[in-house]
Amino acid sequence: MTPLLLPLLLTPQVPPPAQDPATAIRAADLEARIGFLASDALEGRESGRTGGRAAAQYFAREWQRLGLKPIGPEGSYLLPFRIDRELTGFNTAGLLPGTDPGLADQVLVIGGHHDHCGIGGPGAMGFPGEIHNGADDNASGSAGVAELAEWFVAHPIRRPILFMTFDAEERGLLGSAAFVRSGPLARDRIWAMINMDMIGRSGDGYLFVGGLGTAEEFHELLDPVLARSGLRLESKDPGEAPSDNSSFFLAGIPSLFFFTNVHEDYHMPSDDADKIDYPGEVKILELIRDCVLALDRRDGPLTFRDERGMAMPDDFWKRNNEHMRRVFERQRRRGRLGLSVAEAEDGEDLGGLRITRVREDSGAAAAGLAAGEILVEVAGRPVASRNDLRRALGGRLKGEKVEVAVRGADGALRRVEVELG
Ligand SMILES: [Zn+2]
Repeated sequence: MTPLLLPLLLTPQVPPPAQDPATAIRAADLEARIGFLASDALEGRESGRTGGRAAAQYFAREWQRLGLKPIGPEGSYLLPFRIDRELTGFNTAGLLPGTDPGLADQVLVIGGHHDHCGIGGPGAMGFPGEIHNGADDNASGSAGVAELAEWFVAHPIRRPILFMTFDAEERGLLGSAAFVRSGPLARDRIWAMINMDMIGRSGDGYLFVGGLGTAEEFHELLDPVLARSGLRLESKDPGEAPSDNSSFFLAGIPSLFFFTNVHEDYHMPSDDADKIDYPGEVKILELIRDCVLALDRRDGPLTFRDERGMAMPDDFWKRNNEHMRRVFERQRRRGRLGLSVAEAEDGEDLGGLRITRVREDSGAAAAGLAAGEILVEVAGRPVASRNDLRRALGGRLKGEKVEVAVRGADGALRRVEVELG
């Protein structure tokens, strides 16, 4: 059974295309989209959870607003799939028909994943209570899909384009794998795939393009466009990457991967919207748009080439190793109160968490907290669950001090300062 969807999305009424669609790819639009997707309100967009679902619904509404055609069950823009026995994920898809009916069976997929690591979800490298906003990974790419959709609605090409966002990428490309395995679009109707994952940190004009060897024709069609781009490009032929293009490539579909490389905020709570290079992302999207236009000039199908292997930037592993060192170093400095707690039992009204153990020589012990007392508030936040406690402590390091409210055995509330250890 799938979770309830918004009624709007179960029975979408497809409006006519916007009268005056925003035709330019604009930094301000990207800023608004990424600002929303990477806000704390979406709680890091973990697949299968409220925040991930909110991101999927955002894109479903965009496809509807742009007048794209739904291809999901019962005319939905949401494509549900099973993440595991308990969780359901939602890819999103909206189809823009092409102008040449003879090419209706050569669908170009332009996609990027919308999910991220949530609050300590799969792939999270911060502390358990921290929100991983994932502005670059991959609000940047999924917002880019929406910007390109707006542009192509105003300037359709000969072939149909399926605009997609994928869910559960961070759990191991689950959404894109589910789509190529059993999606509503048969594999042999997918002409090529373009994936954008982390395209928001161009900085000095850098862009990596992977998968150029996955169709015989890619170099001939795209090299002139890439050469004119004015960007600092690095490109490789193999078709695999730790991202959704791999699902399509492994299914025999020519696939390209656009990426501005790993950085110090990768999978960290600090991957925030204010660090995105918006004008740089506009240039990247304009290049991707030009690649699409160049590809569409070809008349026939593309010839798939099974060019295996990971295509990643030359300095990817070096940068990634440095990053992981910093992540582990920060993990070692994670601040703790030095106590164990139990949540209230069903029907019990504790008004907080019961302290079950206080570690000797911890900040909690030094502040006089004792087993049996009730932890009511930490750093100004009421704590009714372990999750509340993680959220209250999220991001705090050893040596920091937090104010804690506890209710003692006599029922009196007292406030103490605890140094995290
Ligand atoms: Zn990621």
